Amino acid sequence: MILIDKEHTNKECSLAIVGGGPAGLSAAARAWELGIKDIMIIEREPYLGGILPQCIHSGFGTRIFNEELTGPEYAQRFIDLVKKTKIKIIKNTFALSIDKASKRKIRILTTNKYEGLVNINAKSLVLATGCRERTRGQILIPGNRPAGVFTAGFIQRLVNIEGYLPGKKIVILGSGDIGLIMARRLKLEGCDVQGVFELMPFSTGLKRNIVQCLDDYDIPLYLSHTVTKIEGRGSLSSVIISRVDNKLKPIKGTERKIKCDTLLLSVGLIPENELAKTAGILIDANTQGPEVDENFQTNIDGIFSCGNSLFVNDLVDNVTDDAFLAAEKAFAYMNGKIISRNILVRILPGENIAQIIPQKIYSLGNVSLWVRAKIPLKNAVFEIFTENIRDGFDKKPDNIIENKILFSKKLRFVFPGELIKINIAKDDFKDIADAANGFDIKALLRIK
Ligand SMILES: Cc1cc2nc3c(=O)[nH]c(=O)nc-3n(C[C@H](O)[C@H](O)[C@H](O)COP(=O)(O)OP(=O)(O)OC[C@H]3O[C@@H](n4cnc5c(N)ncnc54)[C@H](O)[C@@H]3O)c2cc1C
Repeated sequence: MILIDKEHTNKECSLAIVGGGPAGLSAAARAWELGIKDIMIIEREPYLGGILPQCIHSGFGTRIFNEELTGPEYAQRFIDLVKKTKIKIIKNTFALSIDKASKRKIRILTTNKYEGLVNINAKSLVLATGCRERTRGQILIPGNRPAGVFTAGFIQRLVNIEGYLPGKKIVILGSGDIGLIMARRLKLEGCDVQGVFELMPFSTGLKRNIVQCLDDYDIPLYLSHTVTKIEGRGSLSSVIISRVDNKLKPIKGTERKIKCDTLLLSVGLIPENELAKTAGILIDANTQGPEVDENFQTNIDGIFSCGNSLFVNDLVDNVTDDAFLAAEKAFAYMNGKIISRNILVRILPGENIAQIIPQKIYSLGNVSLWVRAKIPLKNAVFEIFTENIRDGFDKKPDNIIENKILFSKKLRFVFPGELIKINIAKDDFKDIADAANGFDIKALLRIK
């Protein structure tokens, strides 16, 4: 980066954390507990908590606190914890780029309106930058470009923080949890919610959210439907909705016009990693987050990733657990305890699996894998097997049997809206690693 070569003010710390959302706050609290004394949290917003201050519904913290909290309450628990420490919180500050200043030093170039450009030099870094929403441009809906087309998170902020309604007659595209929660929220504010339209033949939202947010409020859910045209000059006046076939292509002759002044898009979240890319961190094409090992360490020594910047999580409790682990491993790294960088196994997503994290494992121990299914499956079985060797990876040993099943676990029901955690005990993982012997392994989900 050109900017980083210039002379800027320098600040030093042991552990830097970019992002003051639940992941960043949890990582900071755990790092402090472990005894790291000079920690800095860098947050671009004027407040801490990440996305949670605008999530005023309940459903947060049922596992970590054994209580059902709202988003702001969950965030406040960690803000209070962090404020009791001497952790430095640098708000209104944007992390622009990352650079490896020396073997054991990571440099983060930041900017804020008071100090301009400042280099923060740290021994270790946790990236907790959250995610961003997919927009109309990314799903290519044809038609005009009137006002009234918004992403779900933007409307959530408008209604819950700014106190404005986007409109009165609402159409929602996408039935993930955010779309469902916003359907109920807008109905409670007196809007006429025409329906939630979902491209897939199944909803990616939790069953409880379909019941509590749609059924209880008589909001219809239309599966295998999408918006095929946006109409209106200046302001949105209507959308054209079409049914889609099993290849997700709109079916001619099924179009119908729905009058509305607001189209709410809840069409997916993408981990925010523009900053990670400046450091040359490898990004997994499936998760859109950094490729990590079992320590949540990226391909760059001393840089860890957690929360929604690593992969999009459904539950904040899991974000907190993973952030604790990232902080523990950053502490271990700073004490010279993470040394092995020879890949034991590399895990690839196979049939019916959209994402699998971590992507590679370095050492023998208990292993936890986060797995996201591509489609809903009843009586599913999760399996790990040896996979054909890839070019450029270790030479295939002679004793490898291809496509041999190394691990299998029965699961009752899996669906894309809920991540599955697969725990593999150390002894079972040793058997997998011995059998794979430096070979790639693949995981799949199939019906029993
Ligand atoms: C609408 C909605 C409803 C949800 N409902 C539930 C629920 O009912 N129950 C539940 O358990 N979970 C729920 N979740 C999920 C939960 O909120 C997330 O998993 C959690 O907020 C992720 O935390 P995070 O810290 O990774 O990301 P975020 O909360 O997004 O925080 C990331 C932070 O990083 C900062 N940042 C990013 N880039 C930079 C940079 N370059 N420099 C400085 N700062 C930066 C951002 O400003 C932000 O503050 C919901 C999420 C949404 C969006």
